[in-house]
Amino acid sequence: MELGISGKRALVCASSKGLGRGCAEALAAEGVDLVLNARGAEALGATAEALRATYGVSVETVACDVTTTDGQRRVLEAAGAPDILVTNAGGPPPGLWSDWDREDFIAALDANMLTPVALMTALLPGMCDRGWGRVVNITSASVRAPIPQLGLSNSARAGLTGFVAGTSRQVAPFGVTINNLLPGIHATDRAVALDNGKAEAEGTSVAEATANRQATIPARRYGTPAEFGAACAFLCSQQAGFVAGQNWMIDGGAANITV
Ligand code: NAP
Repeated sequence: MELGISGKRALVCASSKGLGRGCAEALAAEGVDLVLNARGAEALGATAEALRATYGVSVETVACDVTTTDGQRRVLEAAGAPDILVTNAGGPPPGLWSDWDREDFIAALDANMLTPVALMTALLPGMCDRGWGRVVNITSASVRAPIPQLGLSNSARAGLTGFVAGTSRQVAPFGVTINNLLPGIHATDRAVALDNGKAEAEGTSVAEATANRQATIPARRYGTPAEFGAACAFLCSQQAGFVAGQNWMIDGGAANITV
């Protein structure tokens, strides 16, 4: 399917690896010029070079922590007036509800709620003025099927989901859509880290921990960044112009919910 976004410009945050990179790659394959971001300059540069070489699109990089005010200023300055915004950052640490104090919540809210809110607040006016825009926020399946040990993530992402629910309806009249992609378990560095942690905690091998987690997913495997990126590119397409304010689970059927 031709998505009709060749020549558009996208800011894709936290995109040197994993799901962010999957989104960047799927957009590059559609001919979208990119501004990529991550904290580590080396992996970021390597990803940018790979996408330029493979897809022939323009790729700029901004090595910074996007969850800081200065980082947001820098990515916004580099992006200029993008047509597409993909928000993403690392997730908060797991724990027990009684582990966390006010500062832990503020850090989680800053990273996974207030950063995407700040980026949208900066870029939505221009998108509305130009009469076209696409925003995709990478959140988590835990928004609809909360994960007990991810209380900080559940809280921050629920806040973002609430902001998007209202804001997406306010910008839809201007040809701008905002949607959230909710990943279940995907084969990224994060999944490997979680498998390692589970193996250590349960005294099993990493292969066993992975197999046990895969068995909980009806698709019997982890998702791939390429599959996730394809969903993102579709939400950024011309064809998805009537999809607004949605929370799309990409989890191989893991969450047993009806709506
Ligand atoms: P990942 O493989 O660890 O990749 C994270 C990417 O984001 C890297 O490029 C990393 O580069 C960059 N990054 C992290 N923190 C950043 C920051 N503060 N500023 C700028 N860049 C940053 O992670 P992932 O699996 O793709 O996960 C992405 C998001 O989806 C996370 O919020 C995660 O909680 C959520 N999620 C993932 C899964 C899953 O199964 N993978 C499931 C549910 C939710 P640097 O480290 O160099 O900055």
